[in-house]
Amino acid sequence: MSKAVVSTLYDSDVFRMACRQFDQAADAINLPEEIRDRTKYPRRCIAVSLPVKRDNGSVTVFEGYRVQHNISTGPSKGGVRFHESVTLGEVGALAMWMSWKCSLVGLPYGGAKGGVIVNPRELSATELEHLSRRYMQELIGFVGPQLDIPAPDVGTNEQIMAWMMDTYSNHVGYICPGVVTGKPIAVGGSQGRREATGAGVAFLVGKYLEDMKLPISKSTVAIQGFGNVGSETALALSAMGAKIVAISDYTGAIYNPAGVDLRKALAYLQSERVLKDFDGGDAVSNEQLLELECTVLIPAALERVIHQDNAPKLKCRLLAEAANGPTTNAADRIIEDRGDIEIIPDVLCNSGGVIVSYFEWLQNQQSFYWDRDEVIRKLHAILEKAKESVEYQKRKFKFSRRLAALTLGIGRVAEAKQKRGLFP
Ligand code: GLU
Repeated sequence: MSKAVVSTLYDSDVFRMACRQFDQAADAINLPEEIRDRTKYPRRCIAVSLPVKRDNGSVTVFEGYRVQHNISTGPSKGGVRFHESVTLGEVGALAMWMSWKCSLVGLPYGGAKGGVIVNPRELSATELEHLSRRYMQELIGFVGPQLDIPAPDVGTNEQIMAWMMDTYSNHVGYICPGVVTGKPIAVGGSQGRREATGAGVAFLVGKYLEDMKLPISKSTVAIQGFGNVGSETALALSAMGAKIVAISDYTGAIYNPAGVDLRKALAYLQSERVLKDFDGGDAVSNEQLLELECTVLIPAALERVIHQDNAPKLKCRLLAEAANGPTTNAADRIIEDRGDIEIIPDVLCNSGGVIVSYFEWLQNQQSFYWDRDEVIRKLHAILEKAKESVEYQKRKFKFSRRLAALTLGIGRVAEAKQKRGLFP
């Protein structure tokens, strides 16, 4: 058998990190050589130029991507990121993680991710609408409720999903809510979707603290990132009795050992758009936040923030990965060797978002809408089952929790590919 070509298209630190995770998992379950590269590398990618008319009359061309990693287990699924540091390699890695995540929690989806290189804060609302619509317009032939279903991610939100849904619907000639998830409720969004990722993180943190015999009412939590996921996680954990001692955004972090007033922080953010100069605690840096003494540390922003330099200095008991890919391979090894920190790996920890996206898509297909209790009950049931299967796999093979989660996710995708067969 000939050795596969190593991808040059996606080559980057973060793509190599996702590939190393895959290789370790594939080795751990002796994944047959003939299925490996087919399971590992993205199926296809679309790169688009997005000309946008600016408010001052000029035109700026943005670059956007959609990577469809796996379409063997269902239509591909995953968010779209608007961020200035987006690269094709990053989107490829994020798409790969979506495949393992959907498959781990048992959703009938493949994995995908999209991204546009843009700082959305620098665009007016009109410019953002033009960009979002143009992105969807360029992807018309490649997305759809049975093909590939975008959703929010870093830098995108419900309003952007509504514009994308509207653009697609105008193209096909009828309302097609199932083409994207994470929409506003008024246009076919689901109850509970906005809070879903944070609610899922909080639910799992609660369960793992229970396993570790650490009472949540005595737990302190530091959260890096106060966007949709970070803020909803903070609210949910605080409602469960935990004390949120630190929060942050890209402008810096706030530390308050007596507990950050979340309502005040959210109101401040609403008026100032950033946490900078928020007076609800001491100003610290994002790097310092990660090294604070706390029960639970929750990275809820970007990839690779926990690395070999700060991993030895972490002072938490539980590391809950609300972000995708926050821990580098080197940091993973350091944390494993230390043996004093439990990790809830990203593909399990933040899966609440895509689980409720699945519910939204189901409700759209059936035009039959559920109440919030039903959504949350079903979300908890899926998370509980996924957690149990990860714990079983971890015990049975003496794997780390990340390896347990990844081997389950990867194993299922590989099995589907094997059963379907390779087109001769
Ligand atoms: N962007 C989220 C994630 O990384 C949600 C994806 C979705 O709902 O499809 O899991």
